[in-house]
Amino acid sequence: MVFAEPYRIKVVEPIRMTTREEREKILEEAGYNLFMVKAEDIFIDLLTDSGTNAMSHYQWAGLMIGDESYAGCRNFFHLQEVVKELFGFDYFVPTHQGRPAENILFMLTIRAGDYIPNNMHFDSTRAHVIDKGGVPADLVIDEAYELENEHPFKGDMDIDKLEGFIRKIGAKKIPFIMLTLTNNTGGGHPVSMGNIKEVRRIADRYGIPLFFDAARFAENAYLIKEREPGYSDKSVKEIVLEMMSYSDGFTMSCKKDGLVNIGGLLAMRDKRLFERAKQLLILMEGFPTYGGLAGRDLEALAIGLKEVIDEAYLAWRIQQVRYLGEKLRNSGIPVSFPIGGHAVYVDIKRFLPHVPQSLFPDNAFATKLYLEAGIRTAALGSTAFATEDKETGKIRYPELELVRLTIPRRVYTNSHMDYVAEAVTELYKKRDTIKGLRVVYEPELLRHFSARFEPVE
Ligand SMILES: *Cc1c(COP(=O)(O)O)cnc(C)c1O
Repeated sequence: MVFAEPYRIKVVEPIRMTTREEREKILEEAGYNLFMVKAEDIFIDLLTDSGTNAMSHYQWAGLMIGDESYAGCRNFFHLQEVVKELFGFDYFVPTHQGRPAENILFMLTIRAGDYIPNNMHFDSTRAHVIDKGGVPADLVIDEAYELENEHPFKGDMDIDKLEGFIRKIGAKKIPFIMLTLTNNTGGGHPVSMGNIKEVRRIADRYGIPLFFDAARFAENAYLIKEREPGYSDKSVKEIVLEMMSYSDGFTMSCKKDGLVNIGGLLAMRDKRLFERAKQLLILMEGFPTYGGLAGRDLEALAIGLKEVIDEAYLAWRIQQVRYLGEKLRNSGIPVSFPIGGHAVYVDIKRFLPHVPQSLFPDNAFATKLYLEAGIRTAALGSTAFATEDKETGKIRYPELELVRLTIPRRVYTNSHMDYVAEAVTELYKKRDTIKGLRVVYEPELLRHFSARFEPVE
C-alpha cells in the first residue's frame, strides 16, 4: 500500500545545503559534537523528534486564543478536559517539558539509596534518578539487546527480572516502578498491553506504584493495535485509555506525541502527591494552571494531544519511519528490527566493526554522515552512555552502540527519506575509511550534549 502524507503544505521553511568544505570547518569548530552545530548549517535534521514537530493550522489558530492570565487561564481548563478524556486522570500539572515533570516526581519520591526499575531509562530520567541519590536499573527483556530479533514488543519489561529484583532489593527501597512507552533508548520499541498488565500485577503484589514515562504514548498504542492480538478492532483512543488505566501516574514530554514544540505533563492518582507536586511546581515552574508554559502553549498542547491519536496520522507516521528503515535494510545496512515508532537505529558495532567503543564509533558515524551529506543524527552508544567506574577507574561501555535517525513529526516528506537513505548507503560503501574520535573535554553528567572530540589518526 502506498502512503501519502495526510496533509498538504501551507507554509514552507527553506533549508540550505552547505558545501563539504564549509562542513569540515563547522565540525572542527563544534568539537565534532553535532549538538554544537548551528541548526542553520544542517540540511536534514534527524537529531531528535523532541520539540521538532510541525503544528497543524488548528494549533496555530489555537495560539491566538491563548489566555495569558496568570491564574486560571481558559487554556488550562481545555487541557484538563483533554487529559481527563484521553488519559483518565483528574490530577496533573503542566510543566515546560518532560524533565521538570521527572524532577518533581523524583524529588517527592526517591530517597538516597532507593532503586528505580524501568524497562530502560531514558537519559534524562537516568540522570534525574542518580541526581536524587537513586540507582536506575534497566530490566527490559533480553530480546531488546538482539538488534535483529523480530520480537514485536522489544520494549517489554522482563517480568522475572523485575520480580527477582524486587525480592533482592526489597519493596521498601523501590518507591515506584517505571515503564517507558515506547522504549526510546532501546530502539523506539513498544511495550505490549499484556506486559503492562503483568507489570501492574507485580506492582500490586508488592505494593509499589507504577509510573509511565509516556512521551510516545500514541505511537505505543498504534503499535499495540498493529501487532498485539485482540487489539486490531480497538481504536487508538481506547487503547491509550486502557494503557493509562494500569498506571498510578505518568511523566510526559509533550515535545514528542504532544505534537507541540514545548510542553510536558505530570499526572497522578494520589491526591496527596498531587498537592505536594503543586508546591514544587510553584517553586520551580510556575502556578499550577500554567506550569512554565504560556496560555497559548497550553492550547496548542490540548489540540495536539487530540490530533496525535488520529489514526490516519499515526498510520502515515509509522509508515514513514518504516519506509526509511526498510530502505536502509534493503541496502544491507545493519538496522535494529523491527522498526519502532519514531526512529531508525543503525547498529554501529556492525557498521564500523573496526572502530573500538573506546573511540566513539557512534559519533564517528554521525560526524561523517554530517560531513558527507549535511544530515544530523544522534549518537546513542558510547558517546552518550559510557561510564567510568568510580572505584576501579575502568570505563564501562554500553551493550548497544547505536546511531538514531530520528524522524520529526509531520516535518519531512518521503523525498527527504530517500535522500537520507542514499547518503547512509554511500557512507556504508566507504565505511572502512571511517576512524574513531577521542574526547578532549567532557562534563560529568549527560556528556553527549557538550563534550568536545577530535579525530584520531
Ligand atoms: C524526551 C524524553 C524525556 C525528557 O523530556 P524532555 O521534554 O526532553 O525534557 C523523558 N523520557 C523520554 C522517554 C523521552 O523521550
